[in-house]
Amino acid sequence: MDQVQQLRPHVLIFPFPAQGHVNSMLKLAELLCLAGINITFLVSNNIHNRLLRHTNVVSRFSKYPGFHLDHYPDAYDESKVHIAQEIMDLCTALQSVVKPFLKELLSKDPAHGTRKDRPPFSCIIVDGFLSLALDVAEEIGLPLICFRTISAGAFWTYFCIPRLVEAGELPFPGDEMNLPIENVKGMEGFLRRCDLPSFLRVGDLTNPDFNLLLKEALQTPRAKGLILNTFEDLEGCILSHFRTHCPNLYTIGPLHAHLRARLQLQEANSNNSNSNSLWEEDKSCIKWLDNQPPKSVLYVSFGSIAIITRETLLEFWHGIVNSGVRFLWVIRPNSVNVGLGDDVLDSTKSKSKSTPEMELEEATKERGCMVGWAPQEDVLAHPAIGGFLTHSGWNSTLESIAEGVPMICWPCFADQQPNSRFVGEIWKIGLDMKDTCDRVIVEKMVRDLMVERKDEFLHRADEMAKLARKSIEEGGSSFCNLVRLIDDIVKG
Ligand code: UDP
Repeated sequence: MDQVQQLRPHVLIFPFPAQGHVNSMLKLAELLCLAGINITFLVSNNIHNRLLRHTNVVSRFSKYPGFHLDHYPDAYDESKVHIAQEIMDLCTALQSVVKPFLKELLSKDPAHGTRKDRPPFSCIIVDGFLSLALDVAEEIGLPLICFRTISAGAFWTYFCIPRLVEAGELPFPGDEMNLPIENVKGMEGFLRRCDLPSFLRVGDLTNPDFNLLLKEALQTPRAKGLILNTFEDLEGCILSHFRTHCPNLYTIGPLHAHLRARLQLQEANSNNSNSNSLWEEDKSCIKWLDNQPPKSVLYVSFGSIAIITRETLLEFWHGIVNSGVRFLWVIRPNSVNVGLGDDVLDSTKSKSKSTPEMELEEATKERGCMVGWAPQEDVLAHPAIGGFLTHSGWNSTLESIAEGVPMICWPCFADQQPNSRFVGEIWKIGLDMKDTCDRVIVEKMVRDLMVERKDEFLHRADEMAKLARKSIEEGGSSFCNLVRLIDDIVKG
């Protein structure tokens, strides 16, 4: 590292160890590297190994002399994390392993420097789930900025928990899930019990996971600022409420598109892969898409964590095949809990299948393609894609919005429930299928999105994509907020 680089700020970026979090925070890291800022990107040993195995992160970042990938010992078997409960268990395990690690890393020398060839740390950007870093940063006297990788809307519902409890709306009095929720400001009139994040569906307020989540959310105003991967035209109505608690908000999304735009400006070699995938991407699906008509293919993926039952998979499969629509389906290894996922991808096992399943496979060969993991950003940007059947993870939602792809939402847990409500009811760029999975409904929704109401959905999704692009262009809200973030980091 040369002397000029030595004089630049040094930021420690610390994501929660899961695909969506690592993905968006690496995009932020690269945006800051482009501004000349030194970055230490800290991940678990497991994530570190997978990034080295499946991505070109090392060669891609080698052009930034100030970038350094570091790792801490694994706290938990992250491959086990598939449901809300396990996410909370991982969170608890991180508290005990990462806190001492961070303390040691940050306090190795009095100026918070870790290695002689790198400048001392000037700031920490930490995933909002990890308030443990706040304690360490305050103890050492380092500024800390929170980054929440979920939507402003979903995060705002966590902030409103005390109000919901006080008003008697939490825990839900009774089992009816479609009743309205009145005490989340900005969401009155469209938020129902079933649209609150799944973590809030607890019968008992002493539930330790519920309390951990509440504690984590309410710590955020202690940070110097809050970064959100969203944009003002998308969530402005919620952001105005948020600013009353966290006035220093940096809305800089959609991050993946923001980074792509900056790289295009700087390099002109925008065709290079910017993938941060923790699984091997099967790029053959892009060739398959090349042979499909424009806007004809439904892309199906439930993200990096969710697992589904064999019954659910069959309902989706029947529904999609019966719709007659072409499809590209990601079935992650081990994501179907009795192993059918592996069978689906392995035609040599088809002899043991029943007749309906064989029919499904025939139809799949005719107009479907199945892969274990896809280059999702490239898939969504492909002209053949006309819709996305998604679990409504926030990265997937933003990636779809940025490309103008309408969605059918089937949220599984956490922030996915409010995201799908916004897609269906507020932005009207898709259909919300939450809490049901029936082949007849799947077929109807796929036909609605891809055939009957195709133009209407494509038009609205296209309008939203234009707003997303505007936000990251020079002078746009996300563009200006990123400039402000960089200035604030440089000024210290
Ligand atoms: N993803 C991918 N290939 C796939 C499926 C997902 O690259 O086949 C990426 C996707 O682009 C997104 C991330 O994995 O950036 C999933 O994050 P999201 O927040 O949508 O959901 P999560 O996995 O956290 O539930």
